[in-house]
Amino acid sequence: LLEVKDLTKSYGEVEVLRGIDFTIEPGQVVAVIGPSGGGKSTFLRCLNLLETPTAGSVRFDGEELTGRGVDLNRLRSRMGMVFQHFNLFPNMTVLRNVVLPQMNVLKRSKAEAEAKARRLLERVGMLERADAHPNRLSGGQKQRVAIVRAAAMDPKLMLFDEPTSALDPEVVQDVLDIMSELADDGMTMVVVTHEMGFARKVADRVVFVDGGNIVADLPPDEFFSDDNTNPRIRTFLDKVL
Ligand code: ATP
Ligand code: MG
Repeated sequence: LLEVKDLTKSYGEVEVLRGIDFTIEPGQVVAVIGPSGGGKSTFLRCLNLLETPTAGSVRFDGEELTGRGVDLNRLRSRMGMVFQHFNLFPNMTVLRNVVLPQMNVLKRSKAEAEAKARRLLERVGMLERADAHPNRLSGGQKQRVAIVRAAAMDPKLMLFDEPTSALDPEVVQDVLDIMSELADDGMTMVVVTHEMGFARKVADRVVFVDGGNIVADLPPDEFFSDDNTNPRIRTFLDKVL
């Protein structure tokens, strides 16, 4: 579904990604973890061209993204992204937030888009807030809406950048549960997270990013095993576990 080859990204003289090779198959869930500043967000943002890679190639769903003439709207509808700070449209209701991208990008009818929005909002317990504006919602509620907005586009791949890092501890699990359900439904996902429980239980692979490189790409049981003696990973795990 996605194939990344020798991806590099520099800001001026500073090389932030140093030759990333990565593939993901349909239905896989990949947890991306690693120390702050290691390049996790930059990596995700290069996948959907929120950042322009300096070199290397990104192939997604049969299309070369690093070539010319990529339709960004179409790309981002097929590759949904959920951010730490929700990024909902503040001047629109919850329902409108979920409906509008479906109509604008996928050219769905209003009726069809609303039916889909209501169905998904119901599943995450947000239907009764359909007419509220985002500033009236808690962080956990905003994130549930943001996930629904991305999922309503029926993307082939969903990217999550620390979706629970800005949330109060008591609602983190609600959001993780929704992500687990998406995974169970077969959604392909790349999730940057500090939630080691999620990485261990839900992910098929754990990718450890440090210093702009993928240092390890392992099934969770191997990654979290005591046999994993990579010193950079041990140092990290000792801090977060
Ligand atoms: P965190 O866990 O704190 O979110 P991260 O792994 O997501 O960290 P990135 O945000 O990808 O790390 O940043 C990697 C490096 O790139 C950092 O050293 C950061 O300062 C640098 N960087 C990121 N964005 C820019 C930018 N727009 N201009 C210059 N440097 C940047
Ligand atoms: Mg980050």
